[in-house]
Amino acid sequence: MIKQIKMITFDLDDTLWDNHPTIMKAEVDTREWIENKVGEVEWGDFNDFINLRADLIREDKTIEWDISKLRKEIFRKKLSHVTPENLRDEIVDKAFDIFIEKRHEIKLFDGVKESIKNLSEKYILGVLTNGNADVYKFDIGKYFKFSISSLEAKDSKPNRAHFDMAISQVNNISFGNILHIGDHQINDIFCAYNLGIDTLWFNNNNVSWAQDFKKPDEFSSWHDLEQIIRNKYER
Ligand SMILES: [Mg+2]
Repeated sequence: MIKQIKMITFDLDDTLWDNHPTIMKAEVDTREWIENKVGEVEWGDFNDFINLRADLIREDKTIEWDISKLRKEIFRKKLSHVTPENLRDEIVDKAFDIFIEKRHEIKLFDGVKESIKNLSEKYILGVLTNGNADVYKFDIGKYFKFSISSLEAKDSKPNRAHFDMAISQVNNISFGNILHIGDHQINDIFCAYNLGIDTLWFNNNNVSWAQDFKKPDEFSSWHDLEQIIRNKYER
């Protein structure tokens, strides 16, 4: 039996755009701005980051899902030598503003804009993201009825909070009426699969399926998406 899909939810990072170059550039530019203000900073490696994150979460549980706060607190720790404190806070806030602005300098994958526009004429569209990009800062934002980040869900995918919030946004929608589209095998696909939500896996890097449940249909080009949805749900 063909499912009656009424709503399509999308992940953002690495699904609508390639996130790595954006985040790398945002990170480098922000650090450069900070160092121009305060001199060289010992940023540490990825392991330091993981440990620091764990320490911060022990002090403040909300940092687990509030990644903007996490980033600010990391800046604050790295600038602990900067005094007086209000100068440090000022630099941290400004640095975060710069980071967030640069974090939105993305390039949509080819075909995203047309697909989203066309799909919005047939389906309710929503965003479910663990990141802190705001889809409403982009032109395509106007096609989405809602956007839920980890900050709003107070939790992160693969936990179910994003999906529970999603069905509370719209009347007469159940998990069986949703199609979720994302790149992450666990955070997107496993999470939705567990709730009985249909999924499409965006796999543009030819990654192998590594989960112990059946691989959902996948696509590697946004130009194919509408046709896949038509074949699956609109016959
Ligand atoms: Mg993603």
